[in-house]
Order: sequence, then structure tokens, then C-alpha cells
Amino acid sequence: MMAAITAAEHGAQAELWERNDCLGRKLAITGKGRCNITNDAPTGELIKNLPGNGAFLYSAFSRFPAAATMDFFSGLGVALKTERGRRVFPAQDDAHEVVAALERRLLALNVQVHYRRRAAGLLCAGGELSGATDTRGEKTAARAVILASGGMSYPATGSTGDGYTLAEAAGHRIVPLRPALAPLETQESWPAEVAGLSLKNVALTAVSNGKPLGREFGEMLFTHFGVSGPIVLSLSRAVSALPQDGAGSTLVLDMKPALTTEQCDKRLQRDLQAGSRKQADNALRGLLPLALLPLLLRLADIPATKPANQISRAERLRLAELLKALPLTVKGPRPLAEAIVTAGGVNVKEIDPRTMASKKLPGLYFAGELLDVDGYTGGYNLQAAWASGYVAGSSAARYAMSSDSGV
Ligand SMILES: Cc1cc2nc3c(=O)[nH]c(=O)nc-3n(C[C@H](O)[C@H](O)[C@H](O)COP(=O)(O)OP(=O)(O)OC[C@H]3O[C@@H](n4cnc5c(N)ncnc54)[C@H](O)[C@@H]3O)c2cc1C
Repeated sequence: MMAAITAAEHGAQAELWERNDCLGRKLAITGKGRCNITNDAPTGELIKNLPGNGAFLYSAFSRFPAAATMDFFSGLGVALKTERGRRVFPAQDDAHEVVAALERRLLALNVQVHYRRRAAGLLCAGGELSGATDTRGEKTAARAVILASGGMSYPATGSTGDGYTLAEAAGHRIVPLRPALAPLETQESWPAEVAGLSLKNVALTAVSNGKPLGREFGEMLFTHFGVSGPIVLSLSRAVSALPQDGAGSTLVLDMKPALTTEQCDKRLQRDLQAGSRKQADNALRGLLPLALLPLLLRLADIPATKPANQISRAERLRLAELLKALPLTVKGPRPLAEAIVTAGGVNVKEIDPRTMASKKLPGLYFAGELLDVDGYTGGYNLQAAWASGYVAGSSAARYAMSSDSGV
């Protein structure tokens, strides 16, 4: 949508093919329906938060930084607000507003939107791109084509990976796809017992062969297969990049990151003394979310019904240690379809970063998640899509208008 809008704004006659019967199905579910539209960070920060080839977008971010995204959407009437971590959202917390604003702009620019039209092939003549065909075999002549068909996660939204096949047919190499921001399955089955429970202000460290891979602080969620939530998604990229998709690596959960183990132990002593006549699970009620307490006592080998005043020092220390470092063994990431973002994709070495033009086929351009670029949560992936879309749209328009047919 951004590419088509920009191409039209630069004077090209643009049309947009969308395989669904509506635009922006994925966009409408971003940010839990609130759409974390960008991150108001300087270019260097944006790149750092796109560990999958963020530097490829240096030129695109210089031309279309986060401020340009914010100006663009404000200009379309979407009031914005900036939250913790410089994450930008529509003030109304409604992703549909973002989709509607893009639709209005497409309409105002007379971009022809073809719904239920699924691109199936690229046409070439004389070593240059000459148009595209759809799944019905209908052809459209075009001087330039921008592929922006997304990655392969959440395929029900329409991103089923068609663009990879089209790019490959044009001679591009596809870097193997893997889930980037994905929930993680654990070998332990106990997370299922507390599925749905989310923990706030906790710290999670991923460890492989005794070496820490990364530490995140924030919110996580237990699920029927393991763990999910923002801090798990952020760590999942590094974990699933390990051999065997990270199987055997460890996640160490610190449920009391503000306290040392000794302070945790003191807190336990206080609670157990105050409730000395109660049983353990009652005496420690204030310590953890209720659903988690019996589980933690079990993992520490302490019967939940044991009277508080009979809990030994060793038992108490085991509990304090688990509060600070509860280990979970990674089985692997959930499948690509459940990942928020697809890592891998069209090899960026074969694309000109200043124009998003294919180095293989003149007239072909790329934008968005189809590229081998991926980032953390926080608005970075959409910023990558807006900026690459803007550059692809303006460059394709310039290229197309050097002759007289459309984009
Ligand atoms: C649940 C979820 C939440 C997310 N939240 C955020 C967030 O808050 N902030 C953030 O920065 N990122 C977020 N992301 C990531 C972000 O949504 C994507 O990186 C971004 O949408 C990629 O944009 P795109 O235009 O490249 O691809 P898409 O948004 O996937 O759009 C591609 C479009 O192409 C269409 N298409 C595919 N093949 C064809 C074809 N052959 N012919 C015609 N049309 C076709 C698809 O139907 C689709 O509409 C989230 C992702 C998910 C799954």
C-alpha cells in the first residue's frame, strides 16, 4: 500500500493487486489490534533493532525515517501517541484506522485496487520486466512491478510466500526462511498447567552451553506448549538461530529481578514467620500469582500443605533460588505460521539498497517482509515495511516514467 501510494504520488499510474477481498488483513491485527506503527528512534537505533540485515535499510531510513512515517500518517488524519520504549500507536488504539487511512489515500490518488487478484508470474521482454500475470492467467503490461507480498507467517492473512516463488523465477536467491519472533516450546510440560498466565516485570535470560545469549525484561506468557509474550518473542530469534533450532538451550526466568537471592530469602523468611501457623501455600500467598505458587512449591519439592513453621532452611533456599532462576529447556520455536515475523527471504545482496531495485531483472522492485530483513517487536518491522515501500514506490515510478507505461 505504501509502495503504490508513493508511486502514484510520484506521478506514476499505479495499480495494486491484493489476493484477499480486503486490504491490510495483517496490518489490522498488528500490535494486538492497536498497530505499533513505528518506533520513534533515530536511524542507528532502528537498525540495531532489526538484527536481520537492518543495515541494508540504512539508505531507506535516511530517506524515510520514523518521523516521516509519523508525518505521513498524521497527514492522513491518524492522530498518534508515543508510548514506553518510543513505540508509536494510533491515539485511538485501532489498527483499522491505519488501514482505512491508507485506503483513503489510494482512492484519492486513483490507484486502481484489484481485490482477489493473485499475482502468479512476472512477464519479461528483452531481458527487462514487462508486466505480471495472475492466477487466472490474465496479463497486465507494466514497466515496473513491486513485489510486496509479505513473509510466510500468519498465512491466513494472505502472506503465504508467493513473492518468494516470483522472486526466484526472476533469478533471486531466497535465504532459508525461519521463524523470527516466535513463541518457544519447552521440554517441561508444567507451563501448560498455568497456560494463559502472564507475568509482568520479570527477566528472562537465554543460555546456550553455559553462555548467555541475551536477557530481556518485561512481560511473558505461559501457554499449553511452553512460553510466549514480548520478552520470549524477542529472545526467540537468537534461540532459534542456534543449531537444531535452539533445542536444549535454556531459558532462565527471574521472577524477582529487583531482589537478590539473599533478599528473596529474607522476604520468604518474613512471610513464613508472619504466617507460621498457616500451611506453606497460604503463608506465601503474596509472593506470586496464585496459580503459580503451588507449582513453584512442587518444583522446589515442598508440599503445599506443609506448615510454614516446618519449612527447612534448605527448602526455603531452594524456593528462593527458583524465584530468581527458574529453568526451562527449549524444544524449539513454534512453526513459521505462528511467528510474528519471517526471517530469511529475498537475498538483500541482490537488491540495490538505494532504490529497492532488483539487480537481476530491470523493472523489478521489492518492499517489506518479503526481504531478508527482520526486527524485534516495537514497531521496527512496520517501519522497515514503510521505508522500503516508500523507496521502492518512488524508484519504480521514476523508472516507469522514463518510458510511458504504468507501474
Ligand atoms: C500478529 C502480528 C502482530 C504484529 N504486530 C506488529 C506491530 O505491532 N508492529 C510492527 O512493526 N510489526 C508487527 N508485525 C509485523 C508486521 O505486521 C509485518 O512485518 C508487516 O505487515 C509486513 O508488511 P508487508 O506489507 O511486507 O506484508 P503483509 O502485511 O503480509 O502484506 C502482504 C500483502 O500481500 C498480499 N499478497 C500475498 N501474496 C499475494 C499475491 N500473490 N498476489 C496479490 N497479493 C498478495 C497479502 O494478502 C497481504 O495483504 C506483526 C505481525 C503479526 C503476525
